[in-house]
Amino acid sequence: MSHLFPTYGKWDIEIKSGSGAFVVDSNGKSYLDFIAGIAVCNLGHCHPKVINAVKEQLDTLWHISNLSPIQGQEDVAKKLTENHTGDYVFFCNSGTEANEAAIKLARKATGKHHIISLVNSFHGRTLGSMAATGQEKIHAGFGPMLSTFDYVPLNDIHALQAAVNEETAAIVVEVIQGEGGVHVMAQSFADGLQALCEEKGILLIIDEIQTGIGRTGKAYAYEHYGLSPDIVTLAKGLGNGFPVGAMIGKAHLKESFSAGSHGSTFGGNPLAMAAAKVVLTEIFNEEFLDEVAKKGKTFKAKLRDTLLDYSMVQEIRGIGLMIGIECNTDVTAIVKALRDKGLLVMNAGSKVIRLLPPLTVTNEELEQALQLLSEVFQELETKQTLTK
Ligand SMILES: *Cc1c(COP(=O)(O)O)cnc(C)c1O
Repeated sequence: MSHLFPTYGKWDIEIKSGSGAFVVDSNGKSYLDFIAGIAVCNLGHCHPKVINAVKEQLDTLWHISNLSPIQGQEDVAKKLTENHTGDYVFFCNSGTEANEAAIKLARKATGKHHIISLVNSFHGRTLGSMAATGQEKIHAGFGPMLSTFDYVPLNDIHALQAAVNEETAAIVVEVIQGEGGVHVMAQSFADGLQALCEEKGILLIIDEIQTGIGRTGKAYAYEHYGLSPDIVTLAKGLGNGFPVGAMIGKAHLKESFSAGSHGSTFGGNPLAMAAAKVVLTEIFNEEFLDEVAKKGKTFKAKLRDTLLDYSMVQEIRGIGLMIGIECNTDVTAIVKALRDKGLLVMNAGSKVIRLLPPLTVTNEELEQALQLLSEVFQELETKQTLTK
């Protein structure tokens, strides 16, 4: 009997080890991992440079309170902001905490409390970021939400403009909605969003927890759109599996997070910083990012060429190595069939298969995944025709 709260629908296999884009279960069966811990292991499993950096830190200092200066935090903050929008960084341990920090900072800096977010968004599970999340199923049963959020549909600029009021402190968006179904922001919406924020003095918060750290072929996905966020939140890929989150803010916000206004015991822990520093050295590198963009583009084109022929497949979308395959049916059985074949993928909403391979995935591994996807759709369609 399990002594865990059943908060997750668990697989019928247990992964025991991993290396690069592959993981191995307790029976010794190997899987191509196109989930990567949900866009976490962007450098693949057990990347030697990350292992070595963390091992070295393990032998030096595990933890020191944030009362002490921590050089690792300065190093990581520099990498996160150098040549990118944003000037100051606050470290925490997860995505939801990064968004909580963003919500608090936006309220404090503006003295206002109304925040607009998007329908189908996902921002986390704690009270503030759950309220920011525009999905009823995530709110269900938890009573009244923090009362400061309104939700408008992605890519509906008129709805966004209409939702603004005197008390609007911020607008929070994902440029590609991850959990919500791999929905990609339109350039025209991004332009309107930026203009609206500038005109009304509203803070723009971009949740890059899933899309950041190179996932889309740029350091941050907002860079595809020319957006200039006041606040950016990060977590997932930042530590390649070592828990760490971060909130980046522009210089004009500095005084609002003065000493004593926010904090986290573990935030910016030396072990987490050791991992994050290596991750950013590897990924925030033009050649690496160009390679991600190139692999993503080729892979998406091949997916379209191969899979759109199947009647179950409706649309294939995404940027870089964040790709969604929208089907005309619930994808639970497809995801399971792929797992049985040795390819780990996950859903995004009920009808979208989400592909999030490690950014270090090779062209051969992408070909292999394509082959497995094609086989499974072929088999399911054959079965469907037979039962008709
Ligand atoms: C995963 C995710 C979160 C929440 O991150 P946690 O580390 O699970 O708290 C928030 N926003 C987005 C876009 C995410 O993908």
